[in-house]
Amino acid sequence: MDRVGSLELAAHAHGLHTAWTVTQASILIVEDDLEMRTLLVRGLREEGLHAESVGTGAQLLERVANGTPDLLIIDIGLPDADGRDVCQALRAQGVGAPILFLTARDALPDRLSGFSAGGDDYLTKPFAFAELVARLEALLRRAGTEPSVEVGVLRVDPRSHAAVCGAASRALTPTEFRLLARLAAAPGEAVRRHALVEVAWPHGAFVQENTLDAYIARLRRKLSDLPGAPEIVTVHGVGYLIELLCCQGLASLSASMAR
Ligand code: CA
Repeated sequence: MDRVGSLELAAHAHGLHTAWTVTQASILIVEDDLEMRTLLVRGLREEGLHAESVGTGAQLLERVANGTPDLLIIDIGLPDADGRDVCQALRAQGVGAPILFLTARDALPDRLSGFSAGGDDYLTKPFAFAELVARLEALLRRAGTEPSVEVGVLRVDPRSHAAVCGAASRALTPTEFRLLARLAAAPGEAVRRHALVEVAWPHGAFVQENTLDAYIARLRRKLSDLPGAPEIVTVHGVGYLIELLCCQGLASLSASMAR
């Protein structure tokens, strides 16, 4: 059985959908350890992925400016920059692709600041290659198969990975997407903090209290750029909710948009 075949089998074994987009995915790796880089690229190509690599943060930003890959693997300890700063720079540029951090240090603070920098998952070196592939699959699957959710004029669109209101849209990172989609699935209802953390970050990840609030703040900024988008409201002692827009609000909004 070839590699792709065995991946499909693995997908069946996990009870996943067979719409297998993972094998066509493009992955860009930034890692300064040449041996590690070469091994990663070779291994991922054998899995049927389009893998490419660069050695510095500057090279990564340059490469992404010419086209965003489906997923990025970022080593935190780079010669010219901290991988978390590179991640933040990418997010500031509107890059919404999933980001997995590699870190040699397994200190807890590093993992936490990886999430607050806009990363979606992390692996601590040394790791088993099969573990890396499983994480990548999970990130790509989550990025590609979520249903579209709507609240009033706001659409949380999994295809473009964006919050969309009419002609306006703002790109979302995978973590932002999952948070917003969860809130939008139950408009007007308070969603508990632990439920939001559970849906947004990988299972078992230790997420700092204020990381969730930082992500909500980012989502609020993005929604505020979209005319007519509902607001995310803090429910003290509980969590957050996305406001349920009433029909009257919608009518006046569409009237104002038509003008
Ligand atoms: Ca390194």
